[in-house]
Amino acid sequence: MSELRWHPFLEQWVITATHRQERTFLPPDDYCPLCPTQPGGFPTEIPSDQFDVVVFDNKFPSLQAPPPEPAVSGSDLLPVTPAAGRCEVVVYSPDHRGALATMALPRIEHLLRVWRDRYLALSADPQLRYVLVFENKGQEVGVTLHHPHGQIYAFPFVPPIPEKELAASRAHRERTGRCLMCDAMAEEQADGRRVVLAGERFVAWVPFHARWPYETYLAPRAHQRSMAEWTEADVADLAAVLKGLLLKFDARFQRPFPYMMVVHQAPIGAGADQADCHLHFEFYSPLRTADRLKYLAGCESGAGTFINDTLPEESAAALRRGGPRSVAAVRDPERLTRRLRAAGRRPMPAALVEAFGEGGPAVRAFAPGRVNLIGEHTDYNDGFVLPMAIEAGIELAARPRAGREVRVRSVDFGETATFRLDQPIERDAAHPWSDYVRGVIREVQQAGLPVDGLDLAFSGTLAQGAGLSSSAALEVGTALVLQALAGFAMEVPRLARLCQRAENQFVGLQCGIMDQYASLAARAGHALFLDCRSLAFEQVPLDLGRHVVAICHSGVKHALVASEYNRRRQECEAGVAGLRARFPAIRALRDASLEQLEACREALDPVVFRRCRHVIGEDDRVLRSVEALRAGELARFGRLMDASHASLRDDYQVSCPEVDLLVELARQGPGVLGARITGGGFGGCTVNLVERDALPHLRDVVLPEYQRRTGRVPRLFVSTAADGAEVD
Ligand SMILES: [Zn+2]
Ligand SMILES: [Zn+2]
Ligand SMILES: [Zn+2]
Repeated sequence: MSELRWHPFLEQWVITATHRQERTFLPPDDYCPLCPTQPGGFPTEIPSDQFDVVVFDNKFPSLQAPPPEPAVSGSDLLPVTPAAGRCEVVVYSPDHRGALATMALPRIEHLLRVWRDRYLALSADPQLRYVLVFENKGQEVGVTLHHPHGQIYAFPFVPPIPEKELAASRAHRERTGRCLMCDAMAEEQADGRRVVLAGERFVAWVPFHARWPYETYLAPRAHQRSMAEWTEADVADLAAVLKGLLLKFDARFQRPFPYMMVVHQAPIGAGADQADCHLHFEFYSPLRTADRLKYLAGCESGAGTFINDTLPEESAAALRRGGPRSVAAVRDPERLTRRLRAAGRRPMPAALVEAFGEGGPAVRAFAPGRVNLIGEHTDYNDGFVLPMAIEAGIELAARPRAGREVRVRSVDFGETATFRLDQPIERDAAHPWSDYVRGVIREVQQAGLPVDGLDLAFSGTLAQGAGLSSSAALEVGTALVLQALAGFAMEVPRLARLCQRAENQFVGLQCGIMDQYASLAARAGHALFLDCRSLAFEQVPLDLGRHVVAICHSGVKHALVASEYNRRRQECEAGVAGLRARFPAIRALRDASLEQLEACREALDPVVFRRCRHVIGEDDRVLRSVEALRAGELARFGRLMDASHASLRDDYQVSCPEVDLLVELARQGPGVLGARITGGGFGGCTVNLVERDALPHLRDVVLPEYQRRTGRVPRLFVSTAADGAEVD
């Protein structure tokens, strides 16, 4: 009782399917044909409950093999043809109350592999032209079976919507030589406003041209034509992005979100146009609000033109605000909680309540400090740096508050600063610690992004002024919290630049971009090799073996740092000007070689010459350090650290006698591969590459000796490379 009838006006096939009349028994109301058969119960489609994912042929298929003869005879104008094809049901789980959004990731991964297998198997059937994987979910889209399941239709033709997409993609490729979806994704990501969730390999976004209120696309960053190209790494990333997106849907109206999910991918069969296809998922939901539906009414159904009365940008922002905020949080929702607990602090949400009273739920964030392993004073010279995040950092909690006021509580200072968003934001001499928060908020406003009233509390495990970048951590944490509350999306480079501008232009310290970048983008077990010009970065495995990174605070606060730092920058600029006179291609010290510098020695002020020699040599040391770490040659890396210290001490002159002594004493001890000053200079910390077994000597011999000779109280932090900032 099913056939294909030709629609000559729209030039497409219509499936007539009257087979549902054939149902021969009346099951009880609570009967679910997709639940495993219960002992003594009605037989269902699934006799066993020992399964992960089950695929079976739909008992009442719209398309089938072999197809029945059409019940009517057509004509030349109105042809009819057998409804050949396949209709399969994919049961996701034995659990009747489950849902794709709430299934464990391994089960979702398994489902993805099943889809891939079915796509490949159906591709082998010469009768078939298109495999459509889809799911209808929820009463609002007409689903009566609530057991978690989806469907696969295999068509003997390419259905009209994928067909139309393919034609548009083909035309785009002929015009530009590029893939339409790759180009659209690049624009969406550069814009950022409609991105909902981004994994390493897959991205979900509300498209610019969304027709439905919460229409969302999900696609691989790489040009993948079909599921056949999925690797295990793709499967793992896609499962997390898919789950995260569905959780965000559910979070939007605090109820299970009804949706249609459709996968568009390469057609199959002889002569199929596969090259122009870029696999993607499309999601549509009829929900406009928690209880109002979008109907396909006259304009949509009769003219094929959608009227979307929500702004895609606002839908995306709303989806970003709810549910998991990152793919890492999808994988491990307790991650941030554990990390904060490991930092051993009183929870900031409690501090928020203590300072400002009860309120709504709070957003929490943690932003780590960093230690720069090598590459000092190269960042503002467009050069290379190699920092890693440390375990210590800044913890924040924030919640929205009615009105245009911002209240900021420093738990460590026991002080509160208050300012208004509808007045110019200015520095606060009475609470200079609040300037970092103010600066970031001002930059977010200036970027044209929304900021509403909020309460924020923060506390740090980073020693202030130790050169471990507590200010960058506070900026990054503030930016992430604002992003979470307002729902705007910014990729790492833009966010890092925004935080840097807050420090440069508002706080008034001309720092480079490394600190913000390291706090945002670092990864556990890795050093972050960052090109400060292009902001391209690589995670370099930091295989420390039996070594650790020991950070020794000299007990000397770097009081001069702002003025001296700004002077060094001016000296570097003078160096570039001098070099350019002879080598016009040099835009920054990063572009110069030591030979070129030597050639300009006479023309340069001797101090400027030495400053340049440090920066140019230091860039080279970073590159060689990356090589050494990749080769697992820690001793070689240690020697480069030593050379870096000598250069900072003698050429750049940003050390001080105490720090030089601390480096020297450490270097004389056993098991130390390298030691150098780190951070802005004039005090602060040293970073040492030390055998774990030699830590007692460092702690019990070197540091007391240092204290005896300088009268300064040193402190020791031991770290391995930690993860970057997180919010939930
Ligand atoms: Zn069921
Ligand atoms: Zn593509
Ligand atoms: Zn599509």
